[in-house]
Amino acid sequence: MRFPLAPTAKIARHIVKNKLQGNKKFAMVLQLEPLHTCNLTCTGCGRIREYSTSLKDLVPLDQCLAAAAECDAPMISVCGGEPLIYPKIEELVVGLLEQGRLVYICTNGVFMRKKMREYMAVAYSPAMESALGQLLSEKLVTEKEADAIRNADAAARQKVVIRPSQWHYWNVHVDGMEYTHDLIVEREGVFKECVLAIRMAKILGYQVATNTTVYRETQSAELEEMFKFLSSLGVDGHTISPGYDYDAAKKDMVKRLGKDPKDFFLTRDLTRQKFRDIQRWGDMFTLFGTPGYLEFLAGKRELACSAWAVPTYNVRGWKAPCYVMTDGHYKTYSEMLTQVAWDRFGVDEKGCGRDSRCENCMMHSGFEPTAALSGGIRDSWVNFKYNFGSRPPAYVRTPELEKSVFNGVTIGKGHLAEAKATVNKELSGAKSAFARGGNDLPHDHDHAPSSGGGCSSGDTTQRDQLLAKIGATGSTGLKSE
Ligand code: SF4
Repeated sequence: MRFPLAPTAKIARHIVKNKLQGNKKFAMVLQLEPLHTCNLTCTGCGRIREYSTSLKDLVPLDQCLAAAAECDAPMISVCGGEPLIYPKIEELVVGLLEQGRLVYICTNGVFMRKKMREYMAVAYSPAMESALGQLLSEKLVTEKEADAIRNADAAARQKVVIRPSQWHYWNVHVDGMEYTHDLIVEREGVFKECVLAIRMAKILGYQVATNTTVYRETQSAELEEMFKFLSSLGVDGHTISPGYDYDAAKKDMVKRLGKDPKDFFLTRDLTRQKFRDIQRWGDMFTLFGTPGYLEFLAGKRELACSAWAVPTYNVRGWKAPCYVMTDGHYKTYSEMLTQVAWDRFGVDEKGCGRDSRCENCMMHSGFEPTAALSGGIRDSWVNFKYNFGSRPPAYVRTPELEKSVFNGVTIGKGHLAEAKATVNKELSGAKSAFARGGNDLPHDHDHAPSSGGGCSSGDTTQRDQLLAKIGATGSTGLKSE
């Protein structure tokens, strides 16, 4: 099966129950944003821009759990911001699991290994030595970290931790191979850290998914190579969605990076060109979701928007009408359901936007549920076959695959080094000196950043200037298809 049986059965029961009760609109996935603070400043992310005045605010734990209980979505996507910065993330995950929900933690991957070491310290027994040995041999933990796991004190052993479970996925953000991903997240080394974290998670028995946003400059061939590599790491499934040019991200792109949003985000036509191979990928890789949504992305059908099925709850309340557009926030999910004029949004039968802001949107959070909730016999049968059918076999991790994927900072071709070379040729060899100013990822475990609350991307002035200059010279390293 593509998806474990127990969660699949739970989701099916949820749909049947609501249909039998005559509920026309109900929640399938809650996008729970306990905070908007992030340790990265990804190009294209609207959250840290739209909620820039409330970056320090947190949704209290009990309010997060109450929101999940109120909308009763069987799946919770804990996102943000970077959810692993949320001080009560472990208690939140445990609380949601106790409510019987399937929990995805949508993370940029930077703090994952730290969280897994904390789990190992709590769960340590001699039986864990074989996994620990493998982690050491693959350099996923250091000797010092292994000793800390073995000799954890009472306080570390009593911590609430995120344990492997069939009801939980790490959902790691990966937008391309090393060069592209690091460029999009605006920090070198993040791709490599994601790969290490995924590998560690699989050794420890966690379920791992990845989520990929496709932008205008993303090349289909690169994505295919990336999925092969992720499959070879043992990743359990992938979600993929076209990038959407929502206002906050658009404004940031113009102001900070001096780029035209039209050069970055996709129109509907371009999305369909980019996703023309998506159904073939559905056969090659464990893409999560419904065949109906894949057909929609490939331009073979139209779907209505069902944004009400994937509500977003954050520091200001229930965000309406959808994950990307904000016309207001409501106190309760039911209030939002009844007060929003849903038929003003989405697209009509011809695929034209009912609201001009919906014109180019094909995001999974709006359209995926429509395909999943379709009561049609064909859709139901195709969905059943797709999800209950066998998983595509995993790709083999070969040196060639590895070489093609690590095409950025690992081989000395990181975008910041390139920027430096572009801007100031005489300093082009001083990559390491530059890295100290803006690239502080935990290559060395002893210098791993703390995840204990508060986060800052530091002074990004130098990097922003360099990126703006790259934009001006056109030397992004990304080629259009
Ligand atoms: S079509 Fe997209 S932008 Fe419009 S309401 Fe639906 S999800 Fe939001």
